[in-house]
Amino acid sequence: MATADSKLKAAILVVSETASEDPSTDKCIPVLKKVFGDLGNDQWDVNETDIVPDNALAIQKTIKGWTDRPEPINLIVTSGVALMARPVAGVRRKTLILTLPGSPKGAKENLEAVLKLLPHACIQAAGAESRPLHVGGVEKLEKDAGVSSGGATAVQKVPVDMRLSGSVLAEDVKATESVPAFRASIVDGYAVKIPATGKFEKGTYPVSIISHAQPGEVKELKEGEIARITTGAPLPPGADAVVMVEDTVLKSLTDDGKEEKEIEILTDEIKPNENVREVGSDVKEGEIILKKGEGVTVVGGEFGLLASVGTTEVSIYKKPVVGVLSTGDEIIPHNREGPLRLGEVRDTNRPTLITAARSHRFEVIDLGIVSDKPGTLEQSLRDAMRKCDVIITSGGVSMGELDLLKPTIERSLGGTIHFGRVNMKPGKPTTFATVPVKDNEGNPVTKSIFSLPGNPASAVVCFHLFVLPALHQQAGIKPLGLPRIRVILDEDVRMDKGRPEYHRALVVTKEDGLLYASSTGGQRSSRIGSFRGANALLCMPQGEGSLKKGEKVEALLMGKLGEVER
Ligand code: AMP
Ligand code: MG
Repeated sequence: MATADSKLKAAILVVSETASEDPSTDKCIPVLKKVFGDLGNDQWDVNETDIVPDNALAIQKTIKGWTDRPEPINLIVTSGVALMARPVAGVRRKTLILTLPGSPKGAKENLEAVLKLLPHACIQAAGAESRPLHVGGVEKLEKDAGVSSGGATAVQKVPVDMRLSGSVLAEDVKATESVPAFRASIVDGYAVKIPATGKFEKGTYPVSIISHAQPGEVKELKEGEIARITTGAPLPPGADAVVMVEDTVLKSLTDDGKEEKEIEILTDEIKPNENVREVGSDVKEGEIILKKGEGVTVVGGEFGLLASVGTTEVSIYKKPVVGVLSTGDEIIPHNREGPLRLGEVRDTNRPTLITAARSHRFEVIDLGIVSDKPGTLEQSLRDAMRKCDVIITSGGVSMGELDLLKPTIERSLGGTIHFGRVNMKPGKPTTFATVPVKDNEGNPVTKSIFSLPGNPASAVVCFHLFVLPALHQQAGIKPLGLPRIRVILDEDVRMDKGRPEYHRALVVTKEDGLLYASSTGGQRSSRIGSFRGANALLCMPQGEGSLKKGEKVEALLMGKLGEVER
Protein backbone atom coordinates (compact mmCIF):
# COMPACT_ATOMS: atom_id res chain seq x y z
CA MET A 1 0.00 0.00 0.00
CA ALA A 2 1.29 3.47 -0.82
CA THR A 3 2.12 5.65 2.20
CA ALA A 4 0.49 9.07 2.48
CA ASP A 5 3.78 10.67 1.62
CA SER A 6 4.26 8.70 -1.56
CA LYS A 7 0.78 9.36 -2.89
CA LEU A 8 0.09 11.63 -5.81
CA LYS A 9 -1.62 14.90 -4.95
CA ALA A 10 -4.72 15.80 -6.89
CA ALA A 11 -6.93 18.86 -6.75
CA ILE A 12 -10.42 19.41 -8.14
CA LEU A 13 -11.50 22.75 -9.55
CA VAL A 14 -15.13 23.28 -10.41
CA VAL A 15 -15.97 26.20 -12.66
CA SER A 16 -19.59 27.20 -12.20
CA GLU A 17 -21.43 30.44 -11.57
CA THR A 18 -24.17 28.81 -9.50
CA ALA A 19 -21.93 26.59 -7.42
CA SER A 20 -19.50 29.40 -6.72
CA GLU A 21 -22.38 31.32 -5.14
CA ASP A 22 -23.83 28.30 -3.36
CA PRO A 23 -21.32 25.44 -2.96
CA SER A 24 -24.04 23.11 -1.74
CA THR A 25 -25.37 22.92 -5.32
CA ASP A 26 -22.14 21.33 -6.56
CA LYS A 27 -22.29 17.62 -7.30
CA CYS A 28 -19.01 17.29 -9.19
CA ILE A 29 -16.56 17.36 -6.30
CA PRO A 30 -18.09 14.45 -4.36
CA VAL A 31 -18.52 12.42 -7.55
CA LEU A 32 -14.91 12.95 -8.67
CA LYS A 33 -13.53 12.31 -5.18
CA LYS A 34 -15.35 9.02 -5.20
CA VAL A 35 -13.79 8.07 -8.56
CA PHE A 36 -10.31 8.78 -7.17
CA GLY A 37 -11.16 6.69 -4.12
CA ASP A 38 -12.80 3.77 -5.91
CA LEU A 39 -10.61 3.42 -8.97
CA GLY A 40 -7.45 5.25 -7.95
CA ASN A 41 -5.59 2.19 -6.71
CA ASP A 42 -4.88 3.96 -3.41
CA GLN A 43 -2.46 6.23 -5.22
CA TRP A 44 -4.18 9.58 -4.79
CA ASP A 45 -4.60 12.19 -2.10
CA VAL A 46 -7.37 14.59 -3.03
CA ASN A 47 -7.34 17.24 -0.35
CA GLU A 48 -7.62 20.46 -2.33
CA THR A 49 -10.83 21.53 -3.99
CA ASP A 50 -12.16 24.88 -5.11
CA ILE A 51 -15.19 26.29 -6.85
CA VAL A 52 -14.80 29.45 -8.92
CA PRO A 53 -17.11 31.45 -11.19
CA ASP A 54 -16.75 31.12 -14.94
CA ASN A 55 -14.11 33.78 -15.19
CA ALA A 56 -10.64 33.37 -16.64
CA LEU A 57 -8.88 35.38 -13.91
CA ALA A 58 -10.47 33.41 -11.11
CA ILE A 59 -9.58 30.13 -12.77
CA GLN A 60 -5.99 31.20 -13.37
CA LYS A 61 -5.56 32.39 -9.81
CA THR A 62 -6.57 29.04 -8.31
CA ILE A 63 -4.54 27.01 -10.78
CA LYS A 64 -1.44 29.13 -10.25
CA GLY A 65 -1.84 28.77 -6.50
CA TRP A 66 -1.75 24.99 -6.90
CA THR A 67 0.99 24.70 -9.52
CA ASP A 68 3.46 27.33 -8.41
CA ARG A 69 4.17 26.17 -4.87
CA PRO A 70 7.42 24.42 -3.87
CA GLU A 71 5.67 21.01 -3.62
CA PRO A 72 3.19 21.35 -6.44
CA ILE A 73 0.01 19.39 -6.89
CA ASN A 74 0.55 16.55 -9.40
CA LEU A 75 -2.82 16.66 -11.03
CA ILE A 76 -5.59 19.23 -11.35
CA VAL A 77 -8.89 18.14 -12.78
CA THR A 78 -11.26 20.88 -13.71
CA SER A 79 -14.93 20.53 -14.48
CA GLY A 80 -16.95 23.22 -16.12
CA VAL A 81 -19.12 24.02 -19.08
CA ALA A 82 -17.77 27.07 -20.84
CA LEU A 83 -14.13 26.09 -20.50
CA MET A 84 -14.21 22.85 -22.24
CA ALA A 85 -16.05 22.13 -25.39
CA ARG A 86 -13.67 19.23 -25.77
CA PRO A 87 -11.60 17.41 -23.16
CA VAL A 88 -8.02 18.65 -23.12
CA ALA A 89 -4.96 18.01 -21.04
CA GLY A 90 -2.04 20.31 -20.47
CA VAL A 91 0.94 20.79 -18.21
CA ARG A 92 1.81 23.85 -16.11
CA ARG A 93 5.23 23.61 -14.45
CA LYS A 94 5.12 20.10 -12.96
CA THR A 95 1.38 19.71 -12.80
CA LEU A 96 -0.85 17.88 -15.23
CA ILE A 97 -4.14 19.69 -15.82
CA LEU A 98 -7.06 17.78 -17.20
CA THR A 99 -10.33 19.36 -18.17
CA LEU A 100 -13.53 17.36 -17.80
CA PRO A 101 -17.08 18.05 -18.92
CA GLY A 102 -19.29 20.18 -16.70
CA SER A 103 -21.95 17.62 -15.92
CA PRO A 104 -21.21 15.34 -12.95
CA LYS A 105 -21.99 12.31 -15.14
CA GLY A 106 -19.76 13.41 -18.00
CA ALA A 107 -16.96 14.41 -15.64
CA LYS A 108 -17.17 11.09 -13.82
CA GLU A 109 -17.13 8.98 -16.98
CA ASN A 110 -14.23 10.89 -18.50
CA LEU A 111 -12.16 10.66 -15.34
CA GLU A 112 -12.91 6.94 -14.99
CA ALA A 113 -11.72 6.37 -18.50
CA VAL A 114 -8.32 7.97 -18.03
CA LEU A 115 -7.61 7.67 -14.32
CA LYS A 116 -5.37 4.64 -14.63
CA LEU A 117 -3.17 6.42 -17.14
CA LEU A 118 -2.75 9.51 -15.03
CA PRO A 119 0.01 8.39 -12.63
CA HIS A 120 2.19 7.72 -15.62
CA ALA A 121 1.27 11.02 -17.24
CA CYS A 122 1.92 12.86 -13.97
CA ILE A 123 5.41 11.35 -13.76
CA GLN A 124 6.13 12.63 -17.19
CA ALA A 125 4.73 16.03 -16.33
CA ALA A 126 6.75 16.21 -13.14
CA GLY A 127 9.97 15.01 -14.67
CA ALA A 128 11.44 11.72 -13.56
CA GLU A 129 13.35 13.23 -10.62
CA SER A 130 10.22 13.99 -8.66
CA ARG A 131 10.65 12.16 -5.37
CA PRO A 132 7.21 11.05 -4.27
CA LEU A 133 6.47 9.62 -7.66
CA HIS A 134 9.19 7.03 -7.54
CA VAL A 135 7.58 4.43 -5.33
CA GLY A 136 7.39 1.28 -7.43
CA GLY A 137 8.86 3.06 -10.42
CA VAL A 138 7.43 3.75 -13.81
CA GLU A 139 7.12 0.07 -14.51
CA LYS A 140 4.77 -0.49 -11.61
CA LEU A 141 2.70 2.53 -12.52
CA GLU A 142 2.47 1.32 -16.07
CA LYS A 143 1.52 -2.11 -14.87
CA ASP A 144 -1.19 -0.69 -12.59
CA ALA A 145 -2.45 1.33 -15.49
CA GLY A 146 -2.43 -1.69 -17.76
CA VAL A 147 -0.11 0.09 -20.15
CA SER A 148 3.46 -0.64 -21.08
CA SER A 149 5.86 0.96 -23.45
CA GLY A 150 5.10 -1.87 -25.86
CA GLY A 151 1.50 -0.76 -25.96
CA ALA A 152 0.05 -4.24 -26.06
CA THR A 153 -2.01 -4.78 -22.93
CA ALA A 154 -4.57 -7.49 -22.55
CA VAL A 155 -3.16 -10.97 -22.14
CA GLN A 156 -5.00 -14.18 -22.76
CA LYS A 157 -4.29 -17.88 -22.24
CA VAL A 158 -5.05 -19.93 -25.34
CA PRO A 159 -4.62 -23.54 -26.40
CA VAL A 160 -1.77 -24.33 -28.76
CA ASP A 161 -3.60 -25.05 -31.96
CA MET A 162 -3.59 -23.90 -35.53
CA ARG A 163 -5.32 -20.61 -34.66
CA LEU A 164 -2.24 -19.50 -32.80
CA SER A 165 -0.24 -18.34 -35.79
CA GLY A 166 -0.12 -14.57 -36.10
CA SER A 167 -0.20 -14.14 -32.30
CA VAL A 168 2.54 -12.72 -30.08
CA LEU A 169 3.60 -14.46 -26.87
CA ALA A 170 3.03 -12.52 -23.66
CA GLU A 171 5.22 -14.83 -21.54
CA ASP A 172 8.36 -16.90 -22.02
CA VAL A 173 7.64 -20.53 -22.85
CA LYS A 174 9.70 -23.27 -21.19
CA ALA A 175 10.01 -26.77 -22.58
CA THR A 176 8.23 -29.28 -20.35
CA GLU A 177 9.86 -32.16 -22.21
CA SER A 178 13.15 -32.89 -23.93
CA VAL A 179 13.50 -33.46 -27.65
CA PRO A 180 14.30 -36.17 -28.43
CA ALA A 181 12.79 -37.73 -25.36
CA PHE A 182 14.87 -40.89 -25.83
CA ARG A 183 18.29 -41.69 -27.35
CA ALA A 184 17.49 -42.05 -31.02
CA SER A 185 19.39 -43.26 -34.05
CA ILE A 186 20.17 -40.72 -36.77
CA VAL A 187 20.63 -43.41 -39.46
CA ASP A 188 19.41 -46.83 -40.58
CA GLY A 189 21.98 -49.35 -39.39
CA TYR A 190 23.15 -51.42 -36.43
CA ALA A 191 23.46 -50.36 -32.82
CA VAL A 192 26.62 -51.66 -31.22
CA LYS A 193 28.15 -51.89 -27.77
CA ILE A 194 31.76 -50.77 -27.48
CA PRO A 195 33.67 -53.17 -25.19
CA ALA A 196 35.42 -52.05 -22.04
CA THR A 197 38.67 -51.91 -24.00
CA GLY A 198 37.21 -48.87 -25.76
CA LYS A 199 37.88 -50.43 -29.17
CA PHE A 200 35.17 -51.95 -31.34
CA GLU A 201 36.45 -54.78 -33.53
CA LYS A 202 35.43 -55.39 -37.13
CA GLY A 203 33.78 -58.74 -37.76
CA THR A 204 30.56 -60.71 -37.87
CA TYR A 205 28.03 -60.23 -35.07
CA PRO A 206 24.67 -61.86 -34.24
CA VAL A 207 21.61 -59.57 -34.51
CA SER A 208 19.83 -60.00 -31.17
CA ILE A 209 17.37 -57.08 -31.20
CA ILE A 210 15.34 -55.20 -33.78
CA SER A 211 14.33 -51.57 -32.94
CA HIS A 212 11.92 -49.78 -35.21
CA ALA A 213 10.72 -46.19 -34.89
CA GLN A 214 7.67 -47.18 -32.86
CA PRO A 215 6.70 -47.05 -29.20
CA GLY A 216 7.45 -50.01 -26.92
CA GLU A 217 10.12 -51.54 -24.74
CA VAL A 218 13.52 -52.39 -26.18
CA LYS A 219 15.70 -55.17 -24.68
CA GLU A 220 19.19 -54.48 -23.38
CA LEU A 221 22.06 -54.94 -25.84
CA LYS A 222 24.83 -57.26 -24.64
CA GLU A 223 28.49 -57.04 -25.59
CA GLY A 224 29.23 -59.06 -28.69
CA GLU A 225 25.71 -58.61 -30.11
CA ILE A 226 24.25 -55.93 -32.34
CA ALA A 227 20.72 -54.53 -32.88
CA ARG A 228 19.14 -53.62 -36.16
CA ILE A 229 17.81 -50.06 -35.85
CA THR A 230 15.95 -47.65 -38.12
CA THR A 231 16.23 -43.84 -38.30
CA GLY A 232 14.56 -42.22 -35.29
CA ALA A 233 14.19 -45.49 -33.38
CA PRO A 234 15.22 -45.73 -29.70
CA LEU A 235 18.66 -47.18 -28.98
CA PRO A 236 18.52 -50.34 -26.89
CA PRO A 237 19.81 -49.76 -23.37
CA GLY A 238 23.51 -50.59 -23.31
CA ALA A 239 24.14 -49.54 -26.94
CA ASP A 240 26.87 -46.95 -27.46
CA ALA A 241 26.73 -46.03 -31.15
CA VAL A 242 25.16 -46.88 -34.49
CA VAL A 243 26.98 -48.17 -37.58
CA MET A 244 25.41 -47.07 -40.88
CA VAL A 245 23.94 -49.83 -43.01
CA GLU A 246 26.40 -48.81 -45.78
CA ASP A 247 29.29 -50.01 -43.57
CA THR A 248 27.83 -53.52 -43.15
CA VAL A 249 27.23 -56.72 -45.13
CA LEU A 250 24.45 -59.25 -44.56
CA LYS A 251 25.98 -62.65 -43.71
CA SER A 252 23.02 -64.92 -42.96
CA LEU A 253 19.24 -64.97 -42.44
CA THR A 254 17.16 -66.68 -39.77
CA ASP A 255 15.83 -70.17 -40.54
CA ASP A 256 12.47 -68.80 -41.75
CA GLY A 257 14.41 -66.48 -44.04
CA LYS A 258 12.58 -63.40 -42.78
CA GLU A 259 15.10 -61.71 -40.47
CA GLU A 260 18.77 -60.96 -40.43
CA LYS A 261 20.74 -63.39 -38.29
CA GLU A 262 24.35 -62.27 -38.73
CA ILE A 263 25.88 -59.05 -40.02
CA GLU A 264 29.47 -58.23 -40.79
CA ILE A 265 30.58 -54.82 -39.62
CA LEU A 266 33.21 -53.49 -42.01
CA THR A 267 34.53 -50.59 -39.97
CA ASP A 268 36.29 -50.33 -36.63
CA GLU A 269 36.31 -46.56 -36.50
CA ILE A 270 33.33 -46.23 -34.21
CA LYS A 271 33.23 -43.60 -31.50
CA PRO A 272 30.80 -43.58 -28.59
CA ASN A 273 27.53 -41.73 -29.43
CA GLU A 274 28.26 -41.76 -33.15
CA ASN A 275 25.00 -41.41 -35.14
CA VAL A 276 23.05 -40.95 -31.90
CA ARG A 277 20.77 -38.05 -31.03
CA GLU A 278 21.12 -37.73 -27.27
CA VAL A 279 18.12 -37.01 -25.02
CA GLY A 280 17.49 -33.25 -25.08
CA SER A 281 20.09 -32.55 -27.76
CA ASP A 282 17.54 -30.55 -29.79
CA VAL A 283 15.62 -29.06 -26.85
CA LYS A 284 16.36 -29.55 -23.15
CA GLU A 285 13.55 -29.87 -20.65
CA GLY A 286 13.23 -26.58 -18.73
CA GLU A 287 14.97 -24.50 -21.38
CA ILE A 288 13.22 -21.35 -22.68
CA ILE A 289 12.14 -22.19 -26.21
CA LEU A 290 10.29 -18.96 -27.04
CA LYS A 291 10.46 -15.53 -25.44
CA LYS A 292 7.86 -13.01 -24.46
CA GLY A 293 7.28 -10.71 -27.43
CA GLU A 294 8.09 -13.33 -30.05
CA GLY A 295 5.51 -13.90 -32.75
CA VAL A 296 4.13 -17.26 -33.79
CA THR A 297 4.70 -16.76 -37.49
CA VAL A 298 3.02 -18.41 -40.42
CA VAL A 299 6.41 -19.77 -41.47
CA GLY A 300 5.79 -22.42 -38.84
CA GLY A 301 9.01 -22.57 -36.81
CA GLU A 302 7.55 -21.29 -33.57
CA PHE A 303 4.47 -23.45 -33.78
CA GLY A 304 6.72 -26.41 -34.58
CA LEU A 305 8.79 -25.80 -31.45
CA LEU A 306 5.70 -25.59 -29.25
CA ALA A 307 4.29 -28.75 -30.81
CA SER A 308 7.57 -30.65 -30.48
CA VAL A 309 7.64 -30.32 -26.69
CA GLY A 310 3.91 -30.81 -26.17
CA THR A 311 3.07 -27.29 -24.92
CA THR A 312 -0.71 -27.22 -24.58
CA GLU A 313 -1.36 -23.63 -23.53
CA VAL A 314 0.42 -20.28 -23.94
CA SER A 315 -0.20 -16.64 -22.97
CA ILE A 316 -0.59 -14.28 -25.87
CA TYR A 317 -1.46 -10.62 -26.28
CA LYS A 318 -5.13 -10.46 -27.00
CA LYS A 319 -5.71 -9.28 -30.52
CA PRO A 320 -8.14 -6.41 -30.88
CA VAL A 321 -11.49 -7.28 -32.39
CA VAL A 322 -12.05 -5.09 -35.42
CA GLY A 323 -15.42 -3.85 -36.68
CA VAL A 324 -15.94 -2.46 -40.16
CA LEU A 325 -18.85 -0.35 -41.34
CA SER A 326 -19.60 1.80 -44.34
CA THR A 327 -21.57 5.03 -44.09
CA GLY A 328 -23.68 6.76 -46.70
CA ASP A 329 -27.32 6.80 -47.83
CA GLU A 330 -26.13 6.15 -51.37
CA ILE A 331 -24.20 3.00 -50.46
CA ILE A 332 -25.82 -0.36 -51.28
CA PRO A 333 -24.51 -3.90 -50.68
CA HIS A 334 -21.97 -4.73 -53.36
CA ASN A 335 -23.87 -7.83 -54.42
CA ARG A 336 -27.35 -6.34 -54.64
CA GLU A 337 -28.89 -7.65 -57.82
CA GLY A 338 -30.27 -5.49 -60.55
CA PRO A 339 -29.14 -2.25 -62.12
CA LEU A 340 -28.21 0.76 -59.99
CA ARG A 341 -30.69 3.57 -59.46
CA LEU A 342 -29.36 7.03 -60.10
CA GLY A 343 -26.97 7.96 -57.30
CA GLU A 344 -26.52 4.47 -55.88
CA VAL A 345 -22.96 3.31 -55.22
CA ARG A 346 -21.92 -0.26 -54.51
CA ASP A 347 -20.19 -0.75 -51.17
CA THR A 348 -16.59 -1.27 -52.13
CA ASN A 349 -14.94 -0.33 -48.85
CA ARG A 350 -16.50 -2.71 -46.37
CA PRO A 351 -15.68 -5.99 -48.16
CA THR A 352 -12.23 -4.69 -49.11
CA LEU A 353 -11.32 -3.52 -45.61
CA ILE A 354 -12.70 -6.69 -44.02
CA THR A 355 -10.57 -8.78 -46.37
CA ALA A 356 -7.49 -6.67 -45.69
CA ALA A 357 -7.87 -6.90 -41.88
CA ARG A 358 -8.59 -10.64 -42.01
CA SER A 359 -5.58 -11.25 -44.21
CA HIS A 360 -3.51 -9.84 -41.34
CA ARG A 361 -5.18 -12.44 -39.09
CA PHE A 362 -7.40 -10.13 -37.08
CA GLU A 363 -10.91 -11.09 -36.07
CA VAL A 364 -13.29 -8.83 -37.97
CA ILE A 365 -16.98 -8.18 -37.40
CA ASP A 366 -18.99 -6.94 -40.35
CA LEU A 367 -21.06 -4.02 -39.06
CA GLY A 368 -22.93 -3.38 -42.30
CA ILE A 369 -23.92 -0.14 -43.96
CA VAL A 370 -25.08 2.78 -41.83
CA SER A 371 -27.21 5.62 -43.13
CA ASP A 372 -26.31 9.29 -42.81
CA LYS A 373 -28.91 9.99 -40.10
CA PRO A 374 -27.38 11.29 -36.86
CA GLY A 375 -29.24 8.97 -34.47
CA THR A 376 -28.55 5.92 -36.62
CA LEU A 377 -24.83 6.54 -36.75
CA GLU A 378 -24.63 7.11 -33.00
CA GLN A 379 -26.57 3.93 -32.28
CA SER A 380 -24.46 1.89 -34.71
CA LEU A 381 -21.25 3.12 -33.12
CA ARG A 382 -22.55 2.39 -29.63
CA ASP A 383 -23.45 -1.16 -30.67
CA ALA A 384 -20.11 -1.52 -32.39
CA MET A 385 -18.18 -0.45 -29.29
CA ARG A 386 -19.85 -3.23 -27.33
CA LYS A 387 -18.46 -5.86 -29.68
CA CYS A 388 -15.24 -4.38 -31.05
CA ASP A 389 -12.05 -2.78 -29.78
CA VAL A 390 -11.23 -0.94 -32.98
CA ILE A 391 -13.87 0.37 -35.36
CA ILE A 392 -13.15 1.27 -38.94
CA THR A 393 -15.71 3.46 -40.68
CA SER A 394 -15.53 4.89 -44.15
CA GLY A 395 -17.24 7.92 -45.63
CA GLY A 396 -18.80 10.82 -43.83
CA VAL A 397 -15.58 12.63 -42.96
CA SER A 398 -15.40 15.18 -45.75
CA MET A 399 -16.89 18.62 -45.30
CA GLY A 400 -20.38 17.91 -46.66
CA GLU A 401 -23.43 18.70 -44.55
CA LEU A 402 -24.15 14.98 -44.17
CA ASP A 403 -20.65 14.30 -42.92
CA LEU A 404 -21.62 13.38 -39.46
CA LEU A 405 -18.84 11.33 -38.05
CA LYS A 406 -16.89 13.96 -36.24
CA PRO A 407 -19.85 15.62 -34.53
CA THR A 408 -21.28 12.24 -33.57
CA ILE A 409 -18.03 11.03 -32.02
CA GLU A 410 -17.41 14.25 -30.13
CA ARG A 411 -20.83 15.44 -29.10
CA SER A 412 -22.91 12.28 -28.83
CA LEU A 413 -20.30 9.75 -27.74
CA GLY A 414 -18.06 12.04 -25.69
CA GLY A 415 -15.04 10.89 -27.67
CA THR A 416 -11.87 12.77 -28.46
CA ILE A 417 -10.81 13.46 -32.02
CA HIS A 418 -7.01 13.15 -32.03
CA PHE A 419 -6.66 14.18 -35.65
CA GLY A 420 -9.10 14.92 -38.41
CA ARG A 421 -6.97 16.04 -41.34
CA VAL A 422 -3.75 14.57 -42.64
CA ASN A 423 -1.34 16.12 -45.11
CA MET A 424 -1.25 13.21 -47.52
CA LYS A 425 -2.70 12.03 -50.79
CA PRO A 426 -5.00 10.21 -50.81
CA GLY A 427 -6.54 10.25 -47.35
CA LYS A 428 -6.69 13.90 -46.34
CA PRO A 429 -9.87 13.61 -44.23
CA THR A 430 -8.66 10.60 -42.23
CA THR A 431 -9.88 10.94 -38.67
CA PHE A 432 -8.82 9.15 -35.52
CA ALA A 433 -10.76 9.25 -32.29
CA THR A 434 -10.96 7.43 -29.00
CA VAL A 435 -14.07 6.98 -26.91
CA PRO A 436 -14.14 6.10 -23.22
CA VAL A 437 -16.70 3.39 -22.47
CA LYS A 438 -17.27 0.60 -19.97
CA ASP A 439 -16.62 -3.01 -20.84
CA ASN A 440 -19.08 -5.79 -19.96
CA GLU A 441 -17.67 -6.00 -16.42
CA GLY A 442 -18.07 -2.26 -15.93
CA ASN A 443 -14.36 -1.45 -16.23
CA PRO A 444 -13.47 1.74 -18.07
CA VAL A 445 -11.86 0.98 -21.43
CA THR A 446 -10.98 3.03 -24.48
CA LYS A 447 -12.19 2.16 -27.95
CA SER A 448 -10.55 3.48 -31.09
CA ILE A 449 -12.38 4.71 -34.14
CA PHE A 450 -10.63 5.16 -37.46
CA SER A 451 -12.86 7.12 -39.80
CA LEU A 452 -11.43 6.66 -43.26
CA PRO A 453 -12.35 8.63 -46.36
CA GLY A 454 -15.21 7.32 -48.48
CA ASN A 455 -13.27 7.06 -51.68
CA PRO A 456 -12.20 3.42 -51.92
CA ALA A 457 -8.54 3.86 -52.85
CA SER A 458 -8.15 6.37 -50.02
CA ALA A 459 -9.80 4.04 -47.55
CA VAL A 460 -7.47 1.16 -48.40
CA VAL A 461 -4.32 3.32 -48.33
CA CYS A 462 -5.34 4.67 -44.92
CA PHE A 463 -6.10 1.22 -43.60
CA HIS A 464 -2.50 0.24 -44.29
CA LEU A 465 -0.97 3.46 -43.03
CA PHE A 466 -3.02 4.11 -39.90
CA VAL A 467 -5.16 1.16 -38.88
CA LEU A 468 -2.71 -1.69 -39.39
CA PRO A 469 0.05 -0.23 -37.17
CA ALA A 470 -2.53 0.41 -34.44
CA LEU A 471 -3.79 -3.17 -34.65
CA HIS A 472 -0.21 -4.43 -34.52
CA GLN A 473 0.48 -2.27 -31.48
CA GLN A 474 -2.48 -3.67 -29.59
CA ALA A 475 -1.58 -7.24 -30.52
CA GLY A 476 2.08 -6.77 -29.56
CA ILE A 477 3.24 -7.37 -33.13
CA LYS A 478 6.50 -5.77 -34.25
CA PRO A 479 7.48 -4.01 -36.39
CA LEU A 480 4.32 -1.92 -36.55
CA GLY A 481 2.61 -1.68 -39.90
CA LEU A 482 3.96 -2.50 -43.31
CA PRO A 483 7.63 -3.28 -43.82
CA ARG A 484 9.68 -0.49 -45.41
CA ILE A 485 11.85 -1.22 -48.41
CA ARG A 486 13.84 0.85 -50.90
CA VAL A 487 12.99 0.40 -54.55
CA ILE A 488 14.28 1.64 -57.89
CA LEU A 489 11.69 3.33 -60.10
CA ASP A 490 11.21 1.40 -63.33
CA GLU A 491 9.52 4.41 -64.94
CA ASP A 492 9.06 8.12 -64.26
CA VAL A 493 6.48 8.72 -61.53
CA ARG A 494 4.77 12.10 -61.14
CA MET A 495 4.78 13.87 -57.81
CA ASP A 496 1.87 15.80 -56.36
CA LYS A 497 2.46 19.53 -55.98
CA GLY A 498 0.47 19.88 -52.80
CA ARG A 499 0.94 16.77 -50.67
CA PRO A 500 3.15 13.70 -50.16
CA GLU A 501 1.53 10.82 -52.03
CA TYR A 502 1.23 7.08 -51.42
CA HIS A 503 1.40 5.81 -54.95
CA ARG A 504 0.16 2.25 -55.63
CA ALA A 505 2.81 0.21 -57.37
CA LEU A 506 4.03 -3.24 -58.28
CA VAL A 507 7.47 -4.10 -56.92
CA VAL A 508 9.37 -6.98 -58.49
CA THR A 509 12.80 -8.51 -58.00
CA LYS A 510 14.93 -8.72 -61.12
CA GLU A 511 17.92 -10.85 -62.00
CA ASP A 512 20.31 -8.33 -60.47
CA GLY A 513 18.61 -9.05 -57.13
CA LEU A 514 17.33 -5.46 -56.78
CA LEU A 515 13.75 -4.30 -56.33
CA TYR A 516 12.04 -2.33 -59.11
CA ALA A 517 8.71 -0.49 -58.91
CA SER A 518 6.22 0.42 -61.57
CA SER A 519 3.03 2.43 -61.16
CA THR A 520 -0.39 0.81 -61.37
CA GLY A 521 -1.60 3.80 -63.40
CA GLY A 522 -4.22 6.44 -62.57
CA GLN A 523 -4.16 7.25 -58.87
CA ARG A 524 -7.48 9.04 -58.46
CA SER A 525 -8.78 8.30 -54.97
CA SER A 526 -12.06 6.88 -56.23
CA ARG A 527 -10.23 4.37 -58.43
CA ILE A 528 -9.89 1.14 -56.42
CA GLY A 529 -8.41 -0.32 -59.59
CA SER A 530 -5.20 1.47 -58.65
CA PHE A 531 -4.78 -1.36 -56.13
CA ARG A 532 -5.19 -4.05 -58.76
CA GLY A 533 -1.93 -5.99 -58.88
CA ALA A 534 -0.36 -3.56 -56.41
CA ASN A 535 1.92 -4.92 -53.71
CA ALA A 536 3.42 -1.67 -52.46
CA LEU A 537 2.82 1.99 -51.72
CA LEU A 538 5.57 4.26 -53.00
CA CYS A 539 6.23 7.07 -50.53
CA MET A 540 6.40 9.91 -53.05
CA PRO A 541 7.53 13.28 -51.74
CA GLN A 542 5.51 16.40 -52.49
CA GLY A 543 7.02 18.24 -55.43
CA GLU A 544 6.96 19.52 -59.00
CA GLY A 545 7.43 17.18 -61.95
CA SER A 546 8.45 13.55 -61.69
CA LEU A 547 10.89 11.29 -59.95
CA LYS A 548 12.81 9.72 -62.80
CA LYS A 549 13.25 6.13 -63.83
CA GLY A 550 16.28 4.74 -61.96
CA GLU A 551 15.81 6.96 -58.91
CA LYS A 552 15.38 5.29 -55.52
CA VAL A 553 12.37 5.79 -53.31
CA GLU A 554 11.05 4.33 -50.09
CA ALA A 555 8.08 1.99 -50.35
CA LEU A 556 5.78 0.11 -47.99
CA LEU A 557 5.33 -3.51 -48.89
CA MET A 558 1.71 -4.69 -48.74
CA GLY A 559 1.86 -8.03 -50.49
CA LYS A 560 4.20 -10.66 -51.87
CA LEU A 561 7.14 -9.49 -53.94
CA GLY A 562 6.65 -10.05 -57.62
CA GLU A 563 9.25 -11.68 -59.81
CA VAL A 564 9.93 -10.88 -63.45
CA GLU A 565 9.64 -13.89 -65.71
CA ARG A 566 12.97 -15.45 -66.54
P1 AMP B 1 -18.03 10.86 -48.33
O1 AMP B 1 -16.77 11.12 -47.58
O2 AMP B 1 -19.04 10.11 -47.53
O3 AMP B 1 -18.58 12.11 -48.92
O4 AMP B 1 -17.65 9.92 -49.54
C1 AMP B 1 -16.74 10.32 -50.55
C2 AMP B 1 -16.98 9.54 -51.82
O5 AMP B 1 -16.74 8.16 -51.58
C3 AMP B 1 -18.40 9.62 -52.33
O6 AMP B 1 -18.34 9.63 -53.73
C4 AMP B 1 -19.02 8.34 -51.86
O7 AMP B 1 -20.11 7.91 -52.62
C5 AMP B 1 -17.87 7.38 -51.96
N1 AMP B 1 -18.02 6.29 -51.02
C6 AMP B 1 -18.28 6.42 -49.70
N2 AMP B 1 -18.35 5.21 -49.12
C7 AMP B 1 -18.16 4.30 -50.10
C8 AMP B 1 -18.12 2.88 -50.12
N3 AMP B 1 -18.31 2.17 -49.00
N4 AMP B 1 -17.89 2.26 -51.29
C9 AMP B 1 -17.69 2.98 -52.42
N5 AMP B 1 -17.70 4.32 -52.45
C10 AMP B 1 -17.94 4.98 -51.31
MG1 MG C 1 -20.98 9.84 -47.42
